[in-house]
Amino acid sequence: MRFFRRAPRVAEPDAQTPEEQVAVEELETPSEELRQQTEQVLERTRRGFFGQIAGLFDRGGGIDESLWEELEELLIGADVGVATTQTILKRTRERVDRDRIKEAEGARAALKATLVELLQAPEGRGRLWGAAGGDPLPKPAIILVLGVNGTGKTTTIAKLGRAYQAEGAKAVIAAGDTFRAAAIEQLKEWCDRLGLDLVAHKQGADPGAVVFDALSAAESRGADVVIIDTAGRLHTKFNLMEELRKIRRIIERKDPTAPHEVLLVLDATTGQNALIQAKAFTEAVVVTSVCLTKLDGSSKGGIVFAVCDQLGIPIRLVGTGEGPEDLAPFAPEAFVEALFR
Ligand code: GDP
Repeated sequence: MRFFRRAPRVAEPDAQTPEEQVAVEELETPSEELRQQTEQVLERTRRGFFGQIAGLFDRGGGIDESLWEELEELLIGADVGVATTQTILKRTRERVDRDRIKEAEGARAALKATLVELLQAPEGRGRLWGAAGGDPLPKPAIILVLGVNGTGKTTTIAKLGRAYQAEGAKAVIAAGDTFRAAAIEQLKEWCDRLGLDLVAHKQGADPGAVVFDALSAAESRGADVVIIDTAGRLHTKFNLMEELRKIRRIIERKDPTAPHEVLLVLDATTGQNALIQAKAFTEAVVVTSVCLTKLDGSSKGGIVFAVCDQLGIPIRLVGTGEGPEDLAPFAPEAFVEALFR
């Protein structure tokens, strides 16, 4: 697993150094470990609607209108959403026509290709996990984490800190959600347990001051990455924007290119509701990446496609359980393969 080293987005034809070649290979073939992990996590999704979708094509024979109608119903049932379902159907049918596919089995491959394409489509705007290949990694890399309470934001921050630590990178966590005492406490418990550096003030303190202190601490301790928690419940969009604007100002004063990623945490089990939340956030701030949590507990999983298609933001991480190691980079091909297995 790799969180800190950025993968190049496309295979460089003249990537000649051994390091470049390894990086390209890693991107093209998700590791066996990642494949197995994705498999396990999607067990429940596969037992749900997606299992039925895979089964649709097993009955053999040709492709008729009823196949498309059933597929449409199942996609909507799997939380893909109406608009994205239409896009998937249209593109799959175009592929089937273009490639003169006549058998249901071939249509399954066309559907899989369409789904992978959809997941790969969003252009990353972040500097850490995004397209800016070749740029030197910023130090410290600054990640701002957003999300509504209950989505798994705190857990994700702890998991991400642990993942960086496991790769030999030094992480500092900033308890920027000063709204709830419980948020600070919970983050503290995680950091104590995992041996992560935490910068926290009291409940009600200015989040900007927490961020300022965390960035100063990162500088003096030579940290590689700073992960900043933010309030999970602000009553209006105006409040949310104001608070984030203040935090951004402080970050930008330290490093005008930061934050390098703005990670939005969404709970997969809330289905279309997650999409509504995401839209509210993206109207207020620039989000560069999504972490979809609780994928292990979701029987639908189709929300993955809606997020990529409707928001145009790449899913970079998935939460795969409650433990500190249950975070995985999102790999579109492995994900689709696992859905259909
Ligand atoms: P926050 O309020 O957004 O900070 O959410 P928390 O981090 O406190 O998480 C809320 C609940 O979701 C906790 O019980 C977590 O253990 C659980 N949780 C978080 N991520 C995952 C995940 O990927 N899978 C599962 N099954 N549970 C998760």
